[in-house]
Amino acid sequence: MTAELLVDVALSANAVFTYRVPPSLRPLLRVGHLVWAPLRQRHVQGVVLDLYAWGGSPHDPAVALSPPALRADPADWFDPQTPTLRDVIDIADPDIALTPAQIRLAHWIADYYRVSLYEALTLMTPPGIAREAETTWRATVEGHSVNPGALPPGERDVLYLLRRSGEMTERELRKRLRGSDAELQAIYAALRERGLIARGTTLARARARPRIERLARLALPPDKAHRALEGLARAPRQRDLLAYLIDHPDLIPVPDLLAAANADSGTLRALERRGLIDIIARDVWRDPLALLDVPPDTPPTLSLAQQRAWDAIAAALDRFTDAAAEDRAAPAPTHFLLHGVTGSGKTELYLRAIARALRLGRQALVLTPEIALTTQMVRRFAARFPGQLAVLHSELSIGERYDQWRRLRRGDAGIAIGSRSAVFAPLPNLGLIIVDEEHEPSYKHDAAPRYHARDVAQRLATITGSVLILGSATPSVESYAAARAGHLRLLELPERITTATGPDGLPHIRTLPLPHVTVVDMRRELADNNRSIFSRALQAALAETLKRGDQAILFLNRRGSASFFLCRDCGHAMTCPSCSSPLTLHQEVDDGHATSPGGVLVCHTCNHRELPPALCPNCWSTRVKSFGIGTQRVVDEITTLFPGTRTLRWDRDSVTRKGDHDRLLDRFLRHEADVLVGTQMIAKGLDLPMVRMVGVVAADTGLYLPDFRAGERAFQLLTQVAGRAGRREAGAHVIIQTYAPEHYAIRAAQEHDYHAFYEQEIAFRRQTGYPPFARLVRFVYGAGSDARARRAAEALANDIRSLATRRLTDDWSLIGPAPAFFRVQRNRYRWHLILRALDPTPLIQALRIPPGWIVDIDPVHVL
Ligand code: ADP
Ligand code: ZN
Ligand code: ZN
Repeated sequence: MTAELLVDVALSANAVFTYRVPPSLRPLLRVGHLVWAPLRQRHVQGVVLDLYAWGGSPHDPAVALSPPALRADPADWFDPQTPTLRDVIDIADPDIALTPAQIRLAHWIADYYRVSLYEALTLMTPPGIAREAETTWRATVEGHSVNPGALPPGERDVLYLLRRSGEMTERELRKRLRGSDAELQAIYAALRERGLIARGTTLARARARPRIERLARLALPPDKAHRALEGLARAPRQRDLLAYLIDHPDLIPVPDLLAAANADSGTLRALERRGLIDIIARDVWRDPLALLDVPPDTPPTLSLAQQRAWDAIAAALDRFTDAAAEDRAAPAPTHFLLHGVTGSGKTELYLRAIARALRLGRQALVLTPEIALTTQMVRRFAARFPGQLAVLHSELSIGERYDQWRRLRRGDAGIAIGSRSAVFAPLPNLGLIIVDEEHEPSYKHDAAPRYHARDVAQRLATITGSVLILGSATPSVESYAAARAGHLRLLELPERITTATGPDGLPHIRTLPLPHVTVVDMRRELADNNRSIFSRALQAALAETLKRGDQAILFLNRRGSASFFLCRDCGHAMTCPSCSSPLTLHQEVDDGHATSPGGVLVCHTCNHRELPPALCPNCWSTRVKSFGIGTQRVVDEITTLFPGTRTLRWDRDSVTRKGDHDRLLDRFLRHEADVLVGTQMIAKGLDLPMVRMVGVVAADTGLYLPDFRAGERAFQLLTQVAGRAGRREAGAHVIIQTYAPEHYAIRAAQEHDYHAFYEQEIAFRRQTGYPPFARLVRFVYGAGSDARARRAAEALANDIRSLATRRLTDDWSLIGPAPAFFRVQRNRYRWHLILRALDPTPLIQALRIPPGWIVDIDPVHVL
């Protein structure tokens, strides 16, 4: 009896099956490999989950060969009743094998976010390696000997072609033959029936492949090569090429050689055949940082606050040394929340932590919002860790990503830095995970699987025993609450710092005051007859900044602008009479019924509707209207007030091509513009030394969005935007224009007071039962008509209610059905439901959800 080697494979067909490993693959196949396996008549791709030995009879136990065994009970591993096991066909790409930690993470994602295991696993493979199996046809022995003249014309053509060209894919055949797919299929079937052709499969080439570079050099010493020149008298082109190589003895890429020596590849091959030169193939890394030229830098001495935080982080990292491993009595906390104001030196701490992790033989993972990956941040990392960095972001080509993946997987690169999806990078020696700007909503993936990269990172840290640092100037309410509860260790950097040259001519740390923030009450501007979108204070500050030759930023919150309804005299925003959510104005035609010309005010929580009032219910003013300003409007206003000012727009419309962020940033840094006008995009992480003034044109957009995070987002945004000013010098100024100067988010932003904001916000969350006091699941359905979407929502709401009473023991509630705030998207009418419960998992796993629904676990917004 021979022992079998078996594998469990998660298939793209969303099932896990057990296969036998054929002898040829035994020395090669590892857990995590992407393989091809047979499934009925097809070949499908899958990921190897487990490897185990089995005696071969149903009574033999199976022995796990791949710790940690994911499926603990051997009885689950395979079905002993299965009459025969089929063989794995092949390894798709020997370089691509997921790490054990990635596989465990995929299991968690599949369960938590309610997606298939294969879907979760494909998050972790590099893009472009999935391949398709293609059907091929070839002539049989019979087919080669038959007289084709006797066949009908269509069959004759196919057979001729196959006899001449050998095996061909259906795609290639289609290109060479006339006729529709159906006609061709009928012809193949007829030929096959006569036994003249046979079917096979082949795998299409993967889009991502290693790039191979070919290099040439002399195969013999120069003096011998010289003598060989004489033998080439009758082949002048070969002689010239050889002479060139004698003059240039270094390895030289073939294309460069051919261009420089003005030769062709036939001549080169001829020299190779004569044994005069060698051609060597070499794997080249496509390195997106290749053009980045940064001088290396040395770490500065830490500030006092940095030092205190560093001691805690260093102690956590030092557990990885052998000496510390023996001292397990009091394990140091290893998950941190680093709360530091903008410019307080968080990044410097990240750099230290990475240096320490690398020294201890561990890899580091750094997540940042996409925008921060513009060269500024990457430069800082590249300067400290030259050659160690693998950058992963959405602008990389498929080939570049594939190469970065393999560098990390082999351990050739110690640091992975990237946006959201970098959390799935293959890091076999992971020891440190950093999530910068952890509060950023862009960490949430807005298509299935709807994972949150920060939460995934937290899980990954637990799986791998890594040190975790969540960093932010404005931590998310969830993370700060977790720190209060002791789940994260809180580290604080309360002061902004910078480097200054001291009297001794050496660089020293200097603390900088945070910029002064003025809140302007826009209701007063109107009362005083200023009709510009810029208040008098903003105009004065802008004039002053331009006169001094400094730079300014004007910021607009685009999200949800133009749609909420506000009184310009008293700042009153219309709210729903039954649930006090903000009402928003909608103009769309409703299911073919003509709507009122002035639009309708809609509540997105309970679906209350009313006509917009002609007078403000608060002060009887007639100046009630919807609210919204675009970046172009701001640019126009600047040009009108300050002719000749150079402006730069930075918003979704001006950033469309690869590299646009970099170009805009460079232009502004080179002072090619005086005023930058932008949206959310400019709020994050940019270091703009010459900016002395920041103006928030309309702080109110966003404040009244019907979303429990509206206040949190507004506070975070205002704080981040204000943080762009005065990063090198004191005296910077921030102006916030608003109709609601007394709103707690605006007041807290004015005072740079995170704690005041947090206390208000957490009280509101406790009172309303929103996260972190419960978890949310949002269900969204879009349909061609409003009525259809509504009926679907009502049906699912009934199912959820009846299931919840049985499955959920704790307090729960269901919000809706109601139309979503963004009610029509891509011509679909959207309705939603929001389930609120301490732990919705038992319900979510039992609930049968009809196709077409979007299920968003832990949504970051409910619009
Ligand atoms: P954050 O990431 O919190 O915004 P940074 O790490 O970018 O803060 O630090 C702000 C500025 O202070 C940067 O210019 C940085 O180079 C400088 N800096 C940080 N730490 C030190 C230090 N210990 N000594 C001198 N300069 C420092
Ligand atoms: Zn009013
Ligand atoms: Zn309502």
